[in-house]
Amino acid sequence: MHFNRRALLTMATASLAYPWPARAIPNSPSRAKSIAAWRRRIESILGKRRVPIIDLQATYSAKQTNLSKVMAYMDELDVAQTAFAVAGEQDGALSVELHRKYPEYFIPTTSSGEFPRWWNSPDAFLDVSRAELQTGDFFAMGEHEFRHYPSPEQAAAGRLDRDITVPIDSPIGDKLFAMSAEFQVPFQIHYEIEDALLPALEAMLERHPKALTIWCHLGLVRYPNRNTRYSPAYVRSLIERFPGLHFDLAVSGPKSVYTPSGARDATIFEPNGKIVDAWLALLEQHPDRFMVATDYRPPVENSMPSYIANLQRKFILDTLSERTRHLVAYGNAWRLITGSAWS
Ligand SMILES: [Zn+2]
Repeated sequence: MHFNRRALLTMATASLAYPWPARAIPNSPSRAKSIAAWRRRIESILGKRRVPIIDLQATYSAKQTNLSKVMAYMDELDVAQTAFAVAGEQDGALSVELHRKYPEYFIPTTSSGEFPRWWNSPDAFLDVSRAELQTGDFFAMGEHEFRHYPSPEQAAAGRLDRDITVPIDSPIGDKLFAMSAEFQVPFQIHYEIEDALLPALEAMLERHPKALTIWCHLGLVRYPNRNTRYSPAYVRSLIERFPGLHFDLAVSGPKSVYTPSGARDATIFEPNGKIVDAWLALLEQHPDRFMVATDYRPPVENSMPSYIANLQRKFILDTLSERTRHLVAYGNAWRLITGSAWS
């Protein structure tokens, strides 16, 4: 497929630039088999001259997720894989089960930190995740809420219980970041953009340079009056200081207003949906640090197809250069979950 050969070569070269440590998880035959299944589905999408997506940010609920609906829109919209982090269970076993049932579609992921088991007992939560990583069955860790304002639908429902703080520069934070560095498995953080919160995150990134951190929701600023520092230039400075830091692009639509503050919160977009020039320049300058994602959760299931087709594809992927598009759609996620560049 000549149309992306150059992109693939560049990806391979880019990933060689980092001296990553060896993984604590050996590449067992069953891991190789999982990776081969994902590769087959990606290659079949590329073979149709379409750009596959690997979605690393998605929350599965056994009671609420309509799996056949999800798999239907994955097929329709060329989502190659979804990393389903399970919420509301004692562990991530269901995520492995999904992968065993549909090997090409799902990536075994430790539990989502978006429910009380995380914020009430984060230490015990991470003990479960550690035991899971040691089995070699898991390839990613879910989203961990360190600072989380109620989402738009939670705010509308008066769900103030979803106003979450777990101090990131704490033994809990150290445990999570160190685990990612040790196993070389990526993890996601939800961390609101606020001046007062940035020094603690920077301290963690400095203490754990080998951690594979995905800071979710690039440029999603809920309260603009609490932020004077975060900007494309600030994110560039973080990227240049911290080789393991990545960002996902699961953000609201260009016109979305966060009701509690009245602010238009997806600051990477102009109101007309164009990516702000400085953000676009950053994506093109550091294409190996960003990835699309859906932030699927059951309450927004019905809007997922248009979210993927319009927001992730039309507003983001379609505006990128070809090399960047392939990295941001699946190349970077592939490197993070498999430990090797897509080739
Ligand atoms: Zn989040």
